[in-house]
Amino acid sequence: MLPFDYAKAKNENDAMDRVRAPKAAFVAGGTTLIDLMKLNVMLPAMLVDINGLPLDKIESLPDGGLRIGAMVRNSDMAHHAEVIKRFPVLSQAVLAGASPQLRNMATTGGNLMQRTRCYYFRDTAYACNKRQPGSGCAAIDGFNRIHAVLGGSDQCIATHPSDMAVALVALDAVVHIKGSGGGERKVAAADFHLLPGKTPNKETVVEPGELITYVTIPNSKFAARSAYVKLRDRASYEFALASAAAALELQDNKIHTARLVLGGVATKPWRSPEAEHVLTGAAADEKTFHAAAEAAMKSATPHKYNGFKIELAKRAIMRALASAAQSKAEGQS
Ligand code: SF4
Repeated sequence: MLPFDYAKAKNENDAMDRVRAPKAAFVAGGTTLIDLMKLNVMLPAMLVDINGLPLDKIESLPDGGLRIGAMVRNSDMAHHAEVIKRFPVLSQAVLAGASPQLRNMATTGGNLMQRTRCYYFRDTAYACNKRQPGSGCAAIDGFNRIHAVLGGSDQCIATHPSDMAVALVALDAVVHIKGSGGGERKVAAADFHLLPGKTPNKETVVEPGELITYVTIPNSKFAARSAYVKLRDRASYEFALASAAAALELQDNKIHTARLVLGGVATKPWRSPEAEHVLTGAAADEKTFHAAAEAAMKSATPHKYNGFKIELAKRAIMRALASAAQSKAEGQS
């Protein structure tokens, strides 16, 4: 681990001023960054500690939505009464991630910014275009059991690691980002993460010097009838091999509106318009869920060791849809 400087940000502007220094990085919960510093994968010269910023509240919005501060700890979000009642997929997704100790530290903003678990990315002995652009990708012809079957490129096939982000996309959430000029821009959670393409080192729309301040979740008729299913090698403290976030608005057991987003199988949280098309207007039954799962995975491309993920993802999708359909939602039949 190389030596680095450390400063505690006094406020948002101070944080953004300080992080403009060469090789500076924000640190919040530190649950990804400190690991990667110990592995020499990330080598910031300066850490700007944003734990003191007053962005740690969950507030109701006038339209019935929620505003979640970037510094809200994952545990506080998952156990918040309004999140459990009105956005259950989010609570379930966050509780499926990591361990209680990590969730007590990890923040909303940090969770969005977490890096891939590709073992070649985390080991500097291997080529990795994400860690060192142009160096190659050890995974494409290597042991790629945990890698993506959707959204990959000839440069990178690493999966996106967050459970929370998958649920946020299913809820039509919006990420609020503050720039150095003080202005704020809003980015749909679905557009926040980038496909690897030719630049796998660029993972999100956040530009140097910008600060995530909030995530807002709009009020919707499908959010309350929602569920998250995560399939993995062990039941706790493990990343998804395949996961699915489903949200449904039902009318007389017919699906009026659907959201289906996948985790663990793609290079970013993967919304499936193909599956949503199958679901919309159809009966909420096993036959429909099966057809939706087939549609969602139709364009999946397996690599040498991860073909099993396609069937696994279909099972996760069917279980998430069935679970969402069976859940009770206020004001819905
Ligand atoms: Fe690096 Fe991506 Fe290849 Fe993994 S899959 S080694 S993160 S370039």
